[in-house]
Amino acid sequence: MSELTGLKALVTGGASGIGRATAELLAARGAEVAVLDLDPSAVDRPLRAHLADVSDDTSVRSAVAAAADDLGGLDILVNNAGIGAAGTVEDNADTEWHRVLDVNVLGIVRTTRAALPLLRASDSPAIVNTCSIAATAGLPQRALYSASKGAVQALTLAMAADHVREGIRVNCVNPGTADTPWVGRLLNRAPDPVAERAALNARQPMGRLVTAEEVAAAIVYLASPAAASVTGTALAVDGGMQGL
Ligand code: NAD
Repeated sequence: MSELTGLKALVTGGASGIGRATAELLAARGAEVAVLDLDPSAVDRPLRAHLADVSDDTSVRSAVAAAADDLGGLDILVNNAGIGAAGTVEDNADTEWHRVLDVNVLGIVRTTRAALPLLRASDSPAIVNTCSIAATAGLPQRALYSASKGAVQALTLAMAADHVREGIRVNCVNPGTADTPWVGRLLNRAPDPVAERAALNARQPMGRLVTAEEVAAAIVYLASPAAASVTGTALAVDGGMQGL
């Protein structure tokens, strides 16, 4: 029997990158896993895919209910869906602020609200939010994205305090730059993607990007009974980016 046998997990943004690696690792450790994504077409069995947009409350409610029906309950919620935005406060219009906050912050609020009644019925309930070092690192050209992730970290701590007496643990992971399709898309916009990737690697303390699997391992730890006394934590998986 594996560590997570019998547990049922839902991963938002689980069709790509960190979310996909997390869904696959949860399944490999024995959990029953459902994925909620804008584009679930790429998700393979045994993961169960549900189409949903975390910026739409109706869509989230019906996908969470369908996933829990499919799984037969819910023990673990990984709020991972997120989008990026570049620029200073002068570069993004209010509409862009609303769009990104709607996905990165309110997406977590909506999914959590839909999942809490199900998590209350679990013996081992846990929520893990994918945050970012952008929450606290003061990154240039990332005003909106950083504000959204700062809100995710604050929300994580507030949710942990609100639900600790119910036994629902809430934590977040704060990845550094992780090698996912998202970062691949950004690199491909550069005139020389290979040189840009080499320069990005060189800026990392370890000389390389964090992998999606390394972030997934931290998420799965926080979601698992091994972390039974861990709540209200932000776990950096950043190759030393902030600490060194
Ligand atoms: P990705 O683009 O590879 O995957 C994101 C997934 O989220 C995609 O499958 C996408 O379809 C889904 N998604 C986006 N908007 C959605 C919505 N409105 N509703 C439902 N699903 C939606 O990205 P990734 O790099 O794996 O990023 C995952 C998370 O990790 C994000 O929250 C991101 O902010 C965070 N993060 C990424 C990095 C990085 O360097 N890659 C660093 C720190 C934090």
